[in-house]
Amino acid sequence: MPELSGNFRDAADISVDVLIVGAGFSGICMGIKLIEAGMKDFLIIEKSDDLGGTWYENRYPGCACDVPAHLYSFSFARNPSWTRMFAGQQEIWQYLKSCVQRYGLAPYIRFKTRFCEAEWDESGGWQVSAGQVSRDNGTFAKTVTIRARVLVSGMGALHVPHYPEIPGIERFSGPAFHSATWRSDVDLRGKTVGVIGTGASAIQFIPHIAARVGKLYIFQRTPAWIVPRLDFGISEKWRERFRRVPMLTWLIRKFLFLALEWRVLNFLGDRVVREHIEGIARRHLERSVADPTLQAALTPRYQIGCKRILLSDDFYPVFQRRNVELVTDRIAEVREHSVVTQDRAERPVDVLIYGTGFHVTEQFIGMKLFGRGGLEIHDAWRNGLSAYLGVTVSGFPNFFILLGPNTGLGHNSVVLMIEAQVGYVIQCLKLMRERNVGVMEVRAESQQHFSANLREHMARTVWQSGGCRSWYQDTRTGENTTLWPGSVIQYFRAMRAVSTSEYHLGPVPARES
Ligand code: NAP
Repeated sequence: MPELSGNFRDAADISVDVLIVGAGFSGICMGIKLIEAGMKDFLIIEKSDDLGGTWYENRYPGCACDVPAHLYSFSFARNPSWTRMFAGQQEIWQYLKSCVQRYGLAPYIRFKTRFCEAEWDESGGWQVSAGQVSRDNGTFAKTVTIRARVLVSGMGALHVPHYPEIPGIERFSGPAFHSATWRSDVDLRGKTVGVIGTGASAIQFIPHIAARVGKLYIFQRTPAWIVPRLDFGISEKWRERFRRVPMLTWLIRKFLFLALEWRVLNFLGDRVVREHIEGIARRHLERSVADPTLQAALTPRYQIGCKRILLSDDFYPVFQRRNVELVTDRIAEVREHSVVTQDRAERPVDVLIYGTGFHVTEQFIGMKLFGRGGLEIHDAWRNGLSAYLGVTVSGFPNFFILLGPNTGLGHNSVVLMIEAQVGYVIQCLKLMRERNVGVMEVRAESQQHFSANLREHMARTVWQSGGCRSWYQDTRTGENTTLWPGSVIQYFRAMRAVSTSEYHLGPVPARES
């Protein structure tokens, strides 16, 4: 445990072996595995006032995971007590809290501490500046400097809200908020509400507010493919069985893993699988929405999987409500009390809710990371995000990214990817310790070779050729820099062992006396 004697707020300079940024799924997993490996000189800094990352910040009504909970959890901390197949935000958040408690991670986490900047110091470590967020208004009360031999980013990709750039949007005078910063203090009862966006978050909260509001306008730019969610509660009897026979939760994980894993074939261009899944989605829409005009408006014109496939049983039925209207004309302008679409129709609105997603392909937004020779990571990535195995970047020694470029998934649980990456980082740290390596940096040619290979695989996927533009793609290059273009099993294989020939390994720099 780091020697942080006294109050962290008063500590001007801190020195740790490993600094982890973010206390979400990734940061928590990294911390637990460091403790298990006996590498206890580490610190986790977290910008929020509690742990959980996206599962703490996103608290909109109906917020839940669209991956079965038994698989959307750590393999080493299986939870026999999930109450639903698809757990809600509160339950996932509580699960993460219980993991932190069970593994004694709490003393290692410093909340309200936001990573701002890091600079590689040629003497073999990172010099990190972090701002301590003031309790009152979110401004920095003070900046602390943390020195760390190794820096691990567990910041994830879904944490900087994306607000639409629509003329006049700043003039709107009523409450306006993003799904990730839900305003529970805004009473929606009887109000006329406009929701912009019909992505994964919006289709979860819309059914929960539709009955409460007076009128609901759903502004859809692109319809999404939606398949049945088939959620169900897990009875106490079954939970008791899972508690008594731990093997059952292991089995259920294996079953769920395989049941989801084959879907990767759709993304990799298998026509038969694609038509099968698209058929399921079409029948789901036809069964749920009777009106053919509405059906047509809700039918996507791109191949299924090009954008994230959504799961919902209660989104389509909201269109049976008389107070709900789907608006497919593009928004032209937002006025003080209304939204105007390109057909010049003006709809009065009391509250605007943005279900418009996140800045995903712009990692480290608002932060700076200076590697070797002062190279800033945004400059290193000026032609697009790239990282060897999605984890390490040439020019940035002793730096590891969890859920970095091209390691997201569209077909299986991303927690599996996190565990594989954490296992890989632990291997690197052990290797450094055993061989007395002070500096570990991926070779530029290894990263280039990996990226070229990845692009070749990507070209054949539905994400590049499925006829859509999605947030998976870099806005500058159009390339998918978000998802892994293969199966989880292939990723596990790639991450199984560290190949030292892909790295520059330098000695521990001599300390100045
Ligand atoms: P999203 O899937 O990116 O959806 C954003 C929506 O906003 C899209 O419908 C988009 O339309 C629309 N939009 C964006 N800018 C717009 C503009 N200027 N005018 C009109 N419409 C605009 O975002 P999200 O729903 O927040 O979900 C993001 C990701 O979070 C998900 O894909 C998923 O990975 C994660 N998530 C996961 C879960 C889960 O259960 N595991 C739940 C919620 C979210 P276009 O399609 O036309 O761009």
